Amino acid sequence: KLDFAGKIAKRLGAPMREEVVHAVDGVDLTVRKGEVVGLVGESGCGKSTLGRMVAGILPPSDGEILWHGRSRSQLSGKEAREAKLRAQMIFQDPMSSLNPRLRVNEIIGEAPLVHGLAKRGDLENYVDEQMRRAGLDPTFKRRYPHQFSGGQRQRIGIARALAVQPEFLVCDESVAALDVSIQAQVLNLFMRLRRELDLTYLFISHDLGVVEHLSNRVVIMYLGRVVEEAPSEEVFARPNHPYTQSLLASVPRIEARKKNFVTVKGEIPSPLNPPPGCHFHPRCPHAFDRCRVERPMLKTVAPGHRSACHLNDLAGA
Ligand code: SF4
Ligand code: MG
Repeated sequence: KLDFAGKIAKRLGAPMREEVVHAVDGVDLTVRKGEVVGLVGESGCGKSTLGRMVAGILPPSDGEILWHGRSRSQLSGKEAREAKLRAQMIFQDPMSSLNPRLRVNEIIGEAPLVHGLAKRGDLENYVDEQMRRAGLDPTFKRRYPHQFSGGQRQRIGIARALAVQPEFLVCDESVAALDVSIQAQVLNLFMRLRRELDLTYLFISHDLGVVEHLSNRVVIMYLGRVVEEAPSEEVFARPNHPYTQSLLASVPRIEARKKNFVTVKGEIPSPLNPPPGCHFHPRCPHAFDRCRVERPMLKTVAPGHRSACHLNDLAGA
């Protein structure tokens, strides 16, 4: 059933001041066709890096990414270009990803024309269709990005992505810059598109509240590692990892759960020099000796539910 997407990166190294930063370390992530996977963590945890690798924009320095069961690095040039089109990224700030000198119809129509998905004679209709799909009025297609609101600009970015007929969207904080009411509209758009176009999503957010309603499965990252992974309802009903519990405690919408958990205190350590053992131990209210020296590995705690915490060994769970 694993016919789709990413088996990701063992390690990503980026040279930086003589040092190597492993933004993502030992991560193994699978996104199945039709799924919406929420990838959650604080800024600097490596989730954007992982998202770029999954989308095929950034090659991993070690490990591999499988696309429909085949390693991306072994695809032929033509296959690689095709795979790159089928996986599209939607970024947080549409303004920086939309060329300010191009009109909206040029922004949306460029790639389909280059890749032969639309003929020049049909291009106007093709662009109109993408705009309507993204909830934009095609009569404004000759305007420039700065003439639209933030929410509309995000829709332009979505229309541009749809125009190359993707099957997989990697959304990196795609609603984080928008007002709450606009956020809800854009999230609803993503879900409508999922039904209409049979899309698969990796939805990256620092906000558990944002992924709660859309994801089938949630993956929690901390300092480059996956610490917990489970079906959505399971993560919210029975979070296992202390880090996940602290994230949940800070989501205002699930206030009722707050009393059960300790809110996490302290700064996120530098990814340049992560703490030994469990990366979370300096902030964890339950840390004990073993946590400071030994890395906890992901272990199954319930069907489809994995967590990396030494407490699970103590409980005999
Ligand atoms: Fe906390 Fe230890 Fe579990 Fe890490 S392994 S989350 S420090 S209890
Ligand atoms: Mg980011």
